[in-house]
Amino acid sequence: MRYVSTRGGIEPVTFSQAVMMGLATDGGLLLPERFPQVDDETLKRWAGLPFKELAVEVMLPFVGEDLSRDELTDLVERSYATFSHPEVTPVVEACDQHILELFHGPTAAFKDVALQFLGNLFELLLERSGGRLNIIGATSGDTGSAAIYGVRGQERIDIFILHPKGRVSPIQERQMTTVLDENVHNIAIKGTFDDGQRIVKTLFSDLAFKKDYRLGAVNSINWARILAQVVYYFYAWGRISGGDTEQKATFSVPTGNFGDIFAGYVALRMGLPVERLILATNRNDILSRFVNTGVYQAGEVYPTISPSMDIQISSNFERYLYFLMDEDPNRVCQLMEQMASEGKLEVPLEKQAEVQRLFVASAVDEDQTRQQIQETYQACGYILDPHTAVGVYAARKYPGSVCLATAHPAKFGAAVKEAIGVESEPPPSLQGLMEKESRCEELEADAAAVKAYIKSTLAR
Ligand SMILES: *Cc1c(COP(=O)(O)O)cnc(C)c1O
Repeated sequence: MRYVSTRGGIEPVTFSQAVMMGLATDGGLLLPERFPQVDDETLKRWAGLPFKELAVEVMLPFVGEDLSRDELTDLVERSYATFSHPEVTPVVEACDQHILELFHGPTAAFKDVALQFLGNLFELLLERSGGRLNIIGATSGDTGSAAIYGVRGQERIDIFILHPKGRVSPIQERQMTTVLDENVHNIAIKGTFDDGQRIVKTLFSDLAFKKDYRLGAVNSINWARILAQVVYYFYAWGRISGGDTEQKATFSVPTGNFGDIFAGYVALRMGLPVERLILATNRNDILSRFVNTGVYQAGEVYPTISPSMDIQISSNFERYLYFLMDEDPNRVCQLMEQMASEGKLEVPLEKQAEVQRLFVASAVDEDQTRQQIQETYQACGYILDPHTAVGVYAARKYPGSVCLATAHPAKFGAAVKEAIGVESEPPPSLQGLMEKESRCEELEADAAAVKAYIKSTLAR
């Protein structure tokens, strides 16, 4: 399997190259040249498989010659051994919906599904090449902790995560800073999340520094993250259909960067029987506006009770645009240029109709989110986290949907308590965090200061 860029400016690369490259060198995003096709007989067989076995089957055709079946099996085993539920991503029933619980990993949010895998994959590829990697990222909460747990203790990787001091929730801060492995470096900057992102961008655009220090990124543009997420769409379908290929599923996905829902689109393109994809956003609604109007235009970012979706520009959207534009990189380039110069892009009417044949979208506000947490709790005793509640609210007209549960409710306990008056029991991974020893460096919100810290840390 080879990978191409949405902007058409690179020679096709292998799976390993795609994983190490992250963003394509022409500024586009990497995609497999074509999707492996899954026939009905295979779907039936896959429907009976446990998660880890299924993960190997789904991912194997994408890794090409780069990993043997045994190597992939070993990676998958180790990546999901850290999940506390024997089914890894179980499907449970709540009122008239199926809930796909994706939060049983070490940081209690769905990003663990991809980042546990990516961390181990990086380690394997680096062992082979004899190289090292320094991961640098800025976080507003969830991604940082999931990335840290993905690579903690690995010998060939150091990770530096910037978070805005005092501006992430106490649980999120402690999740990051109580990881004491030598290769984990938390930096609290005296500034905002935007300052953190700006600093990371500055460091990455310093090409000499980037090369000398082998900087790597872990944001959701990495193809391996999408790939790992494709698995649970097949898994959930198998659980609710029992392998009956006449049964199509509707998935409701709380969406920010379009990574999770794009994985659902990939599953569909491989042959999974999908009826529709419900794209659920909070008040930060650029993507739901796109589905409903064909115009993609950023607005202001509003803070909400589902903070991991407080995003206006979605880094994975370009991947979908590529398929919508019939895999023509020139048209993608035109649209992205339009976006850069005018701050918006618009697709033709017939394309808008194509979008709406598959996606339905809604933007769910905070009152509706709290109302959904309340109603689901009262009607069937199940506690939704605010992100998941956004998806469940958006799926109201579609009973029998698979609603992706992207975080454990205890992780966003304050919002949950406000809605239903009780807090959800924290999973073992979130217990005792406040008492644990922690380590964190405090720095000014200044790229030069962060760079100096990275250099001196790595010189030790
Ligand atoms: C990251 C995140 C999302 C959004 O996922 P995308 O892949 O960015 O669309 C939703 N819910 C939670 C809890 C998250 O951490």
